[in-house]
Amino acid sequence: MRDLVGGKPSDAILLEALSSTRAVVVANETALQRHSARVALATTVQLAARSGAIVYLEAPNAGLDQPLPPLGGGRLLDSLVALGGGLLPGQRIRIGVPDAADVVILLGETAWRQGPELVFRLNADDTEGFIVRTSHGAPWRAGEFPLGALAAAGLAAAEVFKASMRKLRQYALNPAIFDEQLSPVSAARLPVRCGLAVAEPDLGAFDVVSGGAICQGLLFCLAQIPGARGSARVIEPERSDASNMNRYMLLLDRELGRSKVESLSGLALGGLRVEPLPHRFDERSLPRLLPLRDRVLVGVDDIPSRWFIQAQWPSWLGIGATSHFGAMSSWHASGAACAQCLHPRDEAIEGPLPTAAFVSFLAGLSLAARLLDVVRGGGTDVAGQQEWLDTLRLDRAVWRTPVAMRQACPLNCGARARYAA
Ligand SMILES: [Zn+2]
Repeated sequence: MRDLVGGKPSDAILLEALSSTRAVVVANETALQRHSARVALATTVQLAARSGAIVYLEAPNAGLDQPLPPLGGGRLLDSLVALGGGLLPGQRIRIGVPDAADVVILLGETAWRQGPELVFRLNADDTEGFIVRTSHGAPWRAGEFPLGALAAAGLAAAEVFKASMRKLRQYALNPAIFDEQLSPVSAARLPVRCGLAVAEPDLGAFDVVSGGAICQGLLFCLAQIPGARGSARVIEPERSDASNMNRYMLLLDRELGRSKVESLSGLALGGLRVEPLPHRFDERSLPRLLPLRDRVLVGVDDIPSRWFIQAQWPSWLGIGATSHFGAMSSWHASGAACAQCLHPRDEAIEGPLPTAAFVSFLAGLSLAARLLDVVRGGGTDVAGQQEWLDTLRLDRAVWRTPVAMRQACPLNCGARARYAA
C-alpha cells in the first residue's frame, strides 16, 4: 500500500481503509450448480476477507458435491461463514445485503438494482477469467474445471482491494499515478495458460520449496481441480503467525503458531498429499533433501535462494514470485535460460513483507498453470518462459516473454544447453 501512499498515513489509517470496505457477492442457483462458479465465489470471498473487507453473501446455500479446500464439507455459505469467523478479528463473512456497499460482484443471471456502489459481473470459461462493469446478469459459462474461475476470483479481489485503496487518495504520493493504478477496470480478462483443461489430472510427485503465500496459492488452486491427485514434499522450516493470515490461503486460525508444513499436511486437499519437510533449503539441509523430485516448484521471494535451488538443476523448475503489485512465474530446464539469468541481481528486502492476498494468489495460480502444463507434456513454451501480471491493471495484456541466456551466467546454463544439444 505504501508504494502508492508513502509513509504519511499511519498503520491505523491503512487498516481502517482495508477493514471498512464492504463487498457483496451475489450468485444465483443455476450458476452455483457448477463447481467452477462455487470456486469463483468462495475464492473471491476468501481473498477479499483476508484483505480485511467485510464480505456479504447473497446466494443460495448450495451443497458441495466437490470439496473447496480449506472449507470443510457441507454447504457453501455455512462453510464460508464458519471460515470468516477465524480469519481476522470480527466476523468478516456474513449472510445478506448491507445498507451500503463499496463493491458488488455478480455471478450468473442475477441482476443488481444499481445504486452508488461499483458493480462488476464475473464470468469464466475453463481457462480464462472475465470481469466487466455492469449490473446486468448473464449465464455462468465454465463447467467443472476451475482455473478460469480462479483467475476470475483474482480479478474480483483486485477490484475490492482497489476500492479500499481509493479511500487513501488524499495521501497519494503522485495523484496521477495513484489514479492510473487504482481506477476500476471497465473490463478485464485473465487467461491461464495450462494446456488442456482436463479433469482428474495426475500431477505426480513434485517438490515445493516454501510453505508461504505463493505456495499456498499454488496448492489452493490445484486442490480446487476435481479429482486432481499428486504428492508434494513441502520444504519450509517456519511456523505460521498472525501476520500470515492476510495472504495464506490455506492457513486457519486454529493452526497459528504451528509448523507451516505440519498444518499443510493435516489439511484435506482431496487427492493431493503433502509430505512435510520442516527444513530450510540450504547447503546444510541439502543432504537430507536429496534426491530432489523431477519437478520442483519454488515460491520464495529471496533471489539468492532461487539461485541455490536452480544450482541443484532439477529436471524442471517452476518459480512463482511477487514484487510490489507484480506477480510472476517462470520455468527453467536444461536448454533454456536458468533462474539466475532471469534475475541476475539480488534485490535485498528488509522487514516484513506485507504482500496483498490477491497478488500472492495470482503468482500461485500462474505457477499452478505451469505445473499443469508440464505434466501434460507442455512446459517447453520458450516464448512464454516468463509470465508477468500487473495485478492492479489486469485490463492490460498479460506479459509473456522469452528469457535470454546471459553470456556470463554464473550457473553456465548456456554450456549446459550446448551439452544437452
Ligand atoms: Zn543462466
